[in-house]
Amino acid sequence: MTSSLPGGERPVLRFAPSPNGLLHLGHALCALTNRSFADRMGGRLLLRIEDIDITRCRPEFEQAIHDDLAWLGMRFDGAVRRQSEHVESYAAALCRLRGQDVVYPCFCSRQQIRRAVAAGSTAPERAWPHDPDGAPLYPGTCRSLASDTVRARIAAGEPHVLRLAMDRAGPEPAYVAFDDAGATRRVAVAPGRWGDVVLARREIPTSYHLSVVIDDALQGVTHVVRGRDLEAATDIHVVLQRLLGLPTPLYHFHRLLLDEGGEKLAKSRGSRTLADLRAGGVTAGDIRALLGFA
Ligand code: GLU
Repeated sequence: MTSSLPGGERPVLRFAPSPNGLLHLGHALCALTNRSFADRMGGRLLLRIEDIDITRCRPEFEQAIHDDLAWLGMRFDGAVRRQSEHVESYAAALCRLRGQDVVYPCFCSRQQIRRAVAAGSTAPERAWPHDPDGAPLYPGTCRSLASDTVRARIAAGEPHVLRLAMDRAGPEPAYVAFDDAGATRRVAVAPGRWGDVVLARREIPTSYHLSVVIDDALQGVTHVVRGRDLEAATDIHVVLQRLLGLPTPLYHFHRLLLDEGGEKLAKSRGSRTLADLRAGGVTAGDIRALLGFA
């Protein structure tokens, strides 16, 4: 059926796991939710491997993603896109942002940032602002360094990251979110709550935010379906889309699965993996039924 879900042209959706650990039930929920929306809309579902973080991604985790998804009975359309094969696209986008003067080199180490934050929050009423993920906002130390200072420090080989100057990123845009029944609502974004996010670093010359925006556009993604844990980050993505002249897809944020302690499932917390469940005799049908996709 092509339902009353929003969107004109043939919808394109994507499931975009990162091979930095094994998939858990939360990933299965995301993949199955994407498939369900794609089928209801008569759309295509792409698989993208988000493997830019060379410090954490491993080939065996990538293989496990393919094995787990095949076991789950997931079908994808078109070729798999691996982000590590497209670094030149992210570099070109960064170059464009630099040309717009909305990106600046930041030479602060983590320790320097911690010290600046501690110095700025000595009294409780001066509590330092934190971003939606709980990290203290960047204090802005390098935001307005003189250009000859920046040139000299780069020429001297000082390590640095590239940050987005949020206050130079223009008026705050909005995006459209859709729910399960296809109802849409306009969401005003508040990217300032993230501060000057890092868009590239030396060991990884891009970032999740930059790559996801470029890839969604290059792959013609019209509907992004992902967990609520990425809802706030969408503010940054919409800002980048506007700066780079890219279309903004429609967004849907699905529920998160919680563990017994009420925490969202996470690779870093050692949540039970699909591979564990499979080894314990759970079937793909059991997983679908458990998640409401019987
Ligand atoms: N690669 C991200 C993750 O595994 C998902 C990114 C997205 O859906 O935008 O959490």
